[in-house]
Amino acid sequence: MATLDRVNAKDFDRAGDPDADTDGTAADAVGTGTTDAAARPPHARDHLDLRADPVELTAALIDIPSVSRDEARIADAVEAALRDVAATIPEGMPAVTVERIGDNVVARTHRGLPQRAILAGHLDTVPIADNVPSTRGVDAEGRDTIFGCGAVDMKSGDACYLHAFATLAGSPALKRDLTLIMYACEEIAGEFNGLGHLADSHPHLLEGDVALLGEPSGNVIEAGCQGSIRVKVTAHGTRAHSARAWLGDNAAHRLTGVLSRVAAYSAGTARIDGLTYREGMQVVHIQSGVATNTVPDEAWAYVNYRFAPHRDTDEAIAHLMGVLAIDDPLVDVEIEDVSPGAAPGLDRAAAAELVAIAGGVAKPKYGWTDVSRFAALGIPAVNFGPGDPAYCHKRDEQIPVDMITELSDDLLRYLTTAPADDGRNATAPAAS
Ligand SMILES: [Zn+2]
Repeated sequence: MATLDRVNAKDFDRAGDPDADTDGTAADAVGTGTTDAAARPPHARDHLDLRADPVELTAALIDIPSVSRDEARIADAVEAALRDVAATIPEGMPAVTVERIGDNVVARTHRGLPQRAILAGHLDTVPIADNVPSTRGVDAEGRDTIFGCGAVDMKSGDACYLHAFATLAGSPALKRDLTLIMYACEEIAGEFNGLGHLADSHPHLLEGDVALLGEPSGNVIEAGCQGSIRVKVTAHGTRAHSARAWLGDNAAHRLTGVLSRVAAYSAGTARIDGLTYREGMQVVHIQSGVATNTVPDEAWAYVNYRFAPHRDTDEAIAHLMGVLAIDDPLVDVEIEDVSPGAAPGLDRAAAAELVAIAGGVAKPKYGWTDVSRFAALGIPAVNFGPGDPAYCHKRDEQIPVDMITELSDDLLRYLTTAPADDGRNATAPAAS
């Protein structure tokens, strides 16, 4: 889970992978990888049993190192395991397609079911800290626990999603078509993000009625996310010796009006789809000063506004500017970063049913995550993964096995429960 403090709307505009192109509808599995099969080293034969207990699968995934930008090995293993699943779909059932695009792997069912659920997870981890291979022991509370790099962020979530896909792709119990996306480079700068690349180059692969990201959410639904704007406010003045201050014009003093308005601002909350989102506006950086005996001629501050997703970015910018209320010609403001929020979308049936099955508890997501990429495509998206996000990126990263089992059970129940009639069931074609 990358908590992006500095995200830029430009991240949505990157170029796709020019090597990758498929029609996405072929019944046969399609390979578009950049890896030359003949040149693959022996490690490419890592074997993953996706139908095994997701607890065992979590450990197996941790044991394949996959630090960001070094993910070919795990992508090879996941691709091979999904092709094995595709090869065992019962006769007469529509084929499962598997596509490899860079180090991203996408597998889909094509049953003609009334809804399509997207199950997405990143395969990369932060750098290993003497915590691979995995170990199993007890945590501070005495619970049976897996330790290792990626245990909670997010190979346990990947394991639950891979297991659900492998178990249901050929099963008549499946009640929603599935798109499984295992993607690269989530933990580093947004320009490398595999989900972003897919959204640009193969947007049809991201089509669906609801998207689940297996990032750790404490086994409850985290929906939507805040938007973020960062502005730089700069005050200009005139430099002078502080002994003859009347000859100068102190830029730092000129900034204090804006600073005090932000400090006095009382951030609101917004209630959306039953969730309460808190907002915040903070001065996050201030700088000024020439020397200790000098009236400074420039002072600047960064202000960060985190807004609830009931506002679009234009409205949020207008609100921020209203609070800053700059009317001094020697103070200017520059917008440096804008990231839209994501509405939770829990008013949509596919998402509401998931909340009901996961115990009826949903909470707002703070920070900015990849759910925004789906929200930008109009798809309600939630984080739903096992484990405590407080352990993300830690040397003692860990996941109690019961949380894996519980999430896996909830996920299977959701995917095998027929959607409530959303108006399309009556006309949904039979699987053919
Ligand atoms: Zn993560």
